[in-house]
Amino acid sequence: MPNELETISTVESKSVNNLTDSFNREHSYLRISLIEKCNLRCTYCMPAEGVTLSPPDSIMSATEVLEIAKTFVASGVTKIRLTGGEPLLRKDFETIYNGLTKLPAEIGITTNAVLLDKYLPLFKEKEMKSINISLDTLSKKKFHEITRRDQFDRVMNNIYATLNAGIQPRINVVLLRDFNENEINDFIELTKDMPLIIRFIEFMPFEGNEWKTEKLVSLASILQNVGEHFGGANIERIQDKPNDTSKNYRIKGFNGSFSVISTVTNPFCDSCNRIRLTANGTIKNCLFSDGEVNILEPFRKNEAIMPIVKMALGEKHKMRGGMDTLEQFSDPKKNQANRSMILIGG
Ligand code: SAM
Ligand code: SF4
Repeated sequence: MPNELETISTVESKSVNNLTDSFNREHSYLRISLIEKCNLRCTYCMPAEGVTLSPPDSIMSATEVLEIAKTFVASGVTKIRLTGGEPLLRKDFETIYNGLTKLPAEIGITTNAVLLDKYLPLFKEKEMKSINISLDTLSKKKFHEITRRDQFDRVMNNIYATLNAGIQPRINVVLLRDFNENEINDFIELTKDMPLIIRFIEFMPFEGNEWKTEKLVSLASILQNVGEHFGGANIERIQDKPNDTSKNYRIKGFNGSFSVISTVTNPFCDSCNRIRLTANGTIKNCLFSDGEVNILEPFRKNEAIMPIVKMALGEKHKMRGGMDTLEQFSDPKKNQANRSMILIGG
């Protein structure tokens, strides 16, 4: 097999996107989960009893990740996000990242930041496009409660280290009623002096995460809460970018901004450009679809994978994996059929 790091540099950016679904949505954003394991145990992401891991030999190797990513870029993918599990737990993370930076695509990462300090020099050198850091609370005690691990100080220090390295991180906050909705304004206060982007994310249902509609915090109630604290007239709407999944805001005069990602109550399916590759080499055409198509096995047999990817995209539903209404979405038989987020890669 040719050396993947040599062949990768020969892929050129494609203006034509071959990854269109039956609703004419072009898929230019690939999210690759690198690992099923994690050093935290967030309650909304994985059940207390843990998850059944795939056999180690069915997880993509670094070479496989790079070769498969190259094929996607040749088909029109222009943006890749690395996720997991915790992507920085991969021993060969640096090899994967270095290889991907040779592709004509923007690379981003979503991380819990526990190990981020180790990689900041590399990210700075290679101009990492985007770092999303998950942090659901500003209380050390509540952090332990939600992640079942005692890593709050490390995560906070690594957020400051990221800012000091001149990188503007986005902070992902999964909002849960009666857990952290009372911290919304504290998070936004951080954006006064720091150029942080705080992203409030609606809690989504996955196998074993005890999702209930009542745990959702709506966009309207977030804005009301923020308006009462900062004054409604001080909330500025920021223009969304194409394919943006969030509604973006800023408090007048503040350095950073905040946004709301209402995947459940106000989905952005119409402009969805995302496709997911799980750590064990399956394609998920939607975060909410329970169907997965394996491309790693055919890849290992030297079979063409793009026809399989296109077939999977052809089956993509118009909305939320086929759960068109909130009633359907709230049905545990439907919403709990999806593997835990830690296995899919958020
Ligand atoms: N471990 C990394 C992290 O936490 O950033 C990357 C993987 S994690 C699965 C990716 C994102 O999914 C995180 O921002 C996490 O908060 C989000 N997530 C996990 N379970 C979720 C759920 N049930 N609802 C909404 N977001 C969820
Ligand atoms: Fe791990 Fe991220 Fe899931 Fe938390 S959200 S358990 S950090 S994969």
